[in-house]
Amino acid sequence: MKFNTKTIHGGQKPEEATGAVMPPIFQTSTYAQSSPGVNKGYAYSRSANPTRTALESAFATLENGTHGFAFSSGLSAIDCVLRTLNSGDEVIAGDDIYGGTYRMFTNMFEKYGLKFRYVDMNEVTNVTNAISEKTKLIWIETPTNPLMKIADIEEITKAVKNIKTSIVVAVDNTFATPYLQRPLDLGVDIVMHSATKYLGGHSDLVMGALMVKDAKLAEQLHFIQFAAGAIAGPMDSFLALRGVKTLHLRMQRHCENGKAVAQYLLEHPKVSEVFYPGLEKHPNHGIAKKQMDDFGGMVSFRLKDQSKQAALSFLENTKIFTLAESLGGVESLVSHPVTMTHASIPEADRLKIGITDSLIRLSVGVEDIEDLLADLEQALSK
Ligand SMILES: *Cc1c(COP(=O)(O)O)cnc(C)c1O
Repeated sequence: MKFNTKTIHGGQKPEEATGAVMPPIFQTSTYAQSSPGVNKGYAYSRSANPTRTALESAFATLENGTHGFAFSSGLSAIDCVLRTLNSGDEVIAGDDIYGGTYRMFTNMFEKYGLKFRYVDMNEVTNVTNAISEKTKLIWIETPTNPLMKIADIEEITKAVKNIKTSIVVAVDNTFATPYLQRPLDLGVDIVMHSATKYLGGHSDLVMGALMVKDAKLAEQLHFIQFAAGAIAGPMDSFLALRGVKTLHLRMQRHCENGKAVAQYLLEHPKVSEVFYPGLEKHPNHGIAKKQMDDFGGMVSFRLKDQSKQAALSFLENTKIFTLAESLGGVESLVSHPVTMTHASIPEADRLKIGITDSLIRLSVGVEDIEDLLADLEQALSK
């Protein structure tokens, strides 16, 4: 099955009792047993729920995995991965990762004895040089949020596995989605998504996903999902499955519009820098071209006027681009990383990696491109 067919049919079959083409919302916590311990495969919805199962098999299929898991948020999916580790273990992560991931690593897991090293994943050797006897997990995000840096998934994974095959490599694939990039095919062990974003696609739910292709790892993750309990509910699972079925259509337009917006900004006299992996002048355009099928709908840029006031004026004046947290929905959003998504990162660290007051992030939606460009034009002229 090719990708577009998979988004619609992957892991799905009509419901058995009625033939319903979409799985019903099994809004139930428990299931009748004919004798103690004898059931029809479902005992309690923390362990499994048929609506969630339908979504989880769609998730697995999309990433070419064998097992998928749906969580109550992207962060609870990351939390599940970290709970596979033991006190004293070390994690190597990118230095430009999602703010909430960084906050979880430092503020929650350091006190349990995990150690985190942050490296610029532009260079494979930065990762391999940071590996020690205790390294158990590599956490890659690519493209990164908000600077759209690209890490070479295949080369990093190869180099890490060369040193020690037991080191788990995980990729946060939220920005790219499996429409553009499939890390399990590149040798990675775990793919993670904030399904809140492109997989759900309609800004109407908060959800996380993990996909793997190793039965033992799947068993470990399912145990934690069941034992810690951060599961996706049946209603949200239904909505996410409905969203997934148009992923390929939405992504096609996100990519077209993203490219047009990046090109427009590149030529704009009030813009000093544009961050988009589809631009030839992007420092890792070559790697992006190798591992991604297209370049997505996330575009960041810096205003020439470095003042916070200039950024605020732009942010307050867009009309179609809604000023809001989050990304990946059908509607265009604009955000200010310094005060919004990355407020939890200490100022010195932020500035070191280039998250300045004049940096603006766009999640380019699927509206008509003429309307989007006109909106940017009028807000930039204020
Ligand atoms: C939003 C996001 C997360 C966190 O997911 P939630 O669903 O908000 O918990 C993690 N990684 C990336 C790249 C994100 O954009």
